[in-house]
Amino acid sequence: MTAFNPSAFRQQFPALDDAGVYLDSAATTLKPQVVIDTTQQFYSLSAGTVHRSQFAAARQLTERYEQARNQVAHWLHAADPRQIIWTRGTTEAINLVANSWLLPRLQAGDEIVVSEAEHHANLVPWLMVAQARGAKVVKWPIGADRLPDISLLPALLNNRTRLLAIGQMSNVTGGCPDLAQAIQLAHAFGAKVMVDGAQGVVHCPPNMQALDIDFYAFSGHKLYGPMGIGVLYGKAELLEAMSPWQGGGKMLTQVDFSGFTPQPVPWRFEAGTPNVAGVVGLSAALTWLSQHDQSKAEMWSQQLASLAEEQLAELPGFRSFRCGNASLLAFDFEGIHHSDIVTLLAEHGIALRAGQHCAQPLLAALGVSGTLRVSFAPYNNLQDVDALLRAMRSAIALLSEP
Ligand code: PMP
Repeated sequence: MTAFNPSAFRQQFPALDDAGVYLDSAATTLKPQVVIDTTQQFYSLSAGTVHRSQFAAARQLTERYEQARNQVAHWLHAADPRQIIWTRGTTEAINLVANSWLLPRLQAGDEIVVSEAEHHANLVPWLMVAQARGAKVVKWPIGADRLPDISLLPALLNNRTRLLAIGQMSNVTGGCPDLAQAIQLAHAFGAKVMVDGAQGVVHCPPNMQALDIDFYAFSGHKLYGPMGIGVLYGKAELLEAMSPWQGGGKMLTQVDFSGFTPQPVPWRFEAGTPNVAGVVGLSAALTWLSQHDQSKAEMWSQQLASLAEEQLAELPGFRSFRCGNASLLAFDFEGIHHSDIVTLLAEHGIALRAGQHCAQPLLAALGVSGTLRVSFAPYNNLQDVDALLRAMRSAIALLSEP
């Protein structure tokens, strides 16, 4: 493993040459050269697709594709690679669970508990299936620390609770709830747990077996990998009991006009020609990540966020919504609209996000219509913090003029 060196790490990201000051890694991380090369080589050198053809190139590709599944399984501490399903991303993975696992089991009067801190991707699919069946989506409110309040959870669970939906890390506050405790409580009522790992996975991939996670989803593009590829992990017995959600090529063993027989798990959930380039790119990202000291890298991005928070706090009206020492920082300035600030910052070449971050219920609970958000990755540096502060001081001065 290579010791973490911020400038050597940074040099591996060619997009930084053109991206200005990139402080939007919570939306998507930049890609290291090795992921770019692997994806490019896939398109320039490989032929055919997977699980369909007998010629040598296609067979090798199938092996590589299934090897990547093993790699993800190992990385998540899953017991078996068949528990890893390729999806387009977190959103599709959660919709798959909602439609394939929950919908057929959901009855009128059943309940789905969803934390108030969730991204829309871990709320809307549950609202959709609840509406289809006359079930109820129950809000698990955040507390003063902006995390879902664990002391409220037992009273929200009952024997009609079918599922608890919770994020590993909020994309607004960076807060990480106590997953182990939430899962234990939900299981005590027989409810299953869907963990949205989209934001958390790059900071700390959880151990599926140790935490007894039922379903876990993440997206490759937030983990230095390509867009359009993601993963659903599921417990074997749950996946085995699920019917396919999407129908099409290669998800079945036999079909005629009276019906079809689905493939075994996981292939029954992977209808159509898959995103093989995405899979090999994600595999390259994981191999590359494992060569770096991830805890040092994580500490570096947290330090940058803390420094930015400290310095921004010197500006008038600053309010932070950050949880703990997260590497992302949502904030606003009282009396100034976030979109005015972000427009001025864009003129200084600062890439950051402003708005509701696909988390409208959380923003409502925080009592704001929107925030700014800077999110740091290990490829950021002190100059990025300086540039942010310079641009912010000038924007605030301009917007505070009477
Ligand atoms: N959950 C969280 C916490 C996220 O931050 C995101 C991405 N913004 C998603 C879910 C959805 O991920 P994707 O758009 O890659 O499906």
